[in-house]
Amino acid sequence: MNRRNLLRMAAGLGGSALMTKREAAAQERIARAVRAMPSPKIKDVQVIQTAPAGLRLPVVKILTDQDGLYGYGCACFTQRADLVVPAVEKYLGPFLIGKPADRIDDTWQMLYNSSYWRNGPVLNNAISGVDQALWDIKGRQAGMPVYQLLGGKVREAADCYGHASGTEIAEVIDSARRWMERGFRHVRVQVGVPGMAGYGSRGGTTAVKALHSAPVFEPAAYIRRALKLFEECRKQLGDEVELLHDVHERVTPTQAVQFSKDVEKFHLFFFEDPLSPEDIAWFRLIRQQCATPIAMGELFNSPHEWSPLIIERLIDYIRVHVSQAGGLTPCRKMAAMAEHFNVRTAWHGPGDVSPIGHAANVTLDVVCYNFGVQEYSPFNEALQEVFQGCPAQKDGYLYPNEAPGWGIEVNEKAAAKYPFGYGEQGERKRLNGGWGEVRKRDGQIIKQ
Ligand SMILES: [Mg+2]
Repeated sequence: MNRRNLLRMAAGLGGSALMTKREAAAQERIARAVRAMPSPKIKDVQVIQTAPAGLRLPVVKILTDQDGLYGYGCACFTQRADLVVPAVEKYLGPFLIGKPADRIDDTWQMLYNSSYWRNGPVLNNAISGVDQALWDIKGRQAGMPVYQLLGGKVREAADCYGHASGTEIAEVIDSARRWMERGFRHVRVQVGVPGMAGYGSRGGTTAVKALHSAPVFEPAAYIRRALKLFEECRKQLGDEVELLHDVHERVTPTQAVQFSKDVEKFHLFFFEDPLSPEDIAWFRLIRQQCATPIAMGELFNSPHEWSPLIIERLIDYIRVHVSQAGGLTPCRKMAAMAEHFNVRTAWHGPGDVSPIGHAANVTLDVVCYNFGVQEYSPFNEALQEVFQGCPAQKDGYLYPNEAPGWGIEVNEKAAAKYPFGYGEQGERKRLNGGWGEVRKRDGQIIKQ
């Protein structure tokens, strides 16, 4: 018997003192690998309520029974943020305490089915907060960013687009130029309609006669103005830059068909939300009549909404608000289904998504082959003070953090400095962060 075997035998008999340091360390590594990682249990579920940029961002924090192991998830339904908090704390929390934190799909199915009535925005956002927090925990446990847990990168970073807007067309073009100078290859352009409450830009000081005192919007005036904008953009910005535009479901179905045909010659990268979720059957008509690339989905809650559009290839980009659809788990499945139909992703990424949500977006962007483009919103100083480790943007590309999980730590002391309602004024304050009303000249309310 050689010396090494003698040592091993001695170790097996409890003679660990005879084992060399190097061998003991090796044995420990093997034991750890064989045992796998211990399963953490959920100890507490909390909601951080913060609004560092003036938009209400509910973020779920899940703590486990393992010291220092916790995670964060985006539950951002800013217009009804106060309702998400009790949905998490009073309904999901009691369900989750004591459950394993490492069974993510199982937990998602449990929460999704437990209310019986499902696929609504409040509960979906609440589930998303839990779902993303569990992914964060798993990443922290593994010592890897979540994108590694999903198979690793298929691209280095996510090409993203910025918002160029202005009351006048010249202002929009100046704004687009600034994005292009920063290295962006994609820019969304929105111009104000004189005197009207256009989406994505202000309407200036012109007064519009109306039978009421609410903000006014008329779809025909908006369409004429937008077509002029695209024409000027192409003249002044050239053909290289990718232009995007958001209709925000503000026109009639027939106008949407005609508008989609009229913008075809401007070669938009995509034309967003020409129809509302209630009118999705009309997408067939748009598809039959033009080749304008269509993006749709930020209001979607349910697979009943996105599945037919993907399967029938009626849209080019699925741009769901990840927390609204229930989190990373369902959106990862949605992206995989869309890949088979060559429908690309363009996850919703405005300021009413928390940096945790943006981290989930960019994670999906770099792991999904059928990624299209990512909407980008800059993180202001206050956001970066609260959410430390926001995804980094460089030359129009967004990069996921390399730290474990989402790679973001929430400074809860700083978060408390910006409570819900922070910076809100006037109508927004009165409506508790909700959106107000927009009406046609005759007083008819419109979809926003
Ligand atoms: Mg939109």
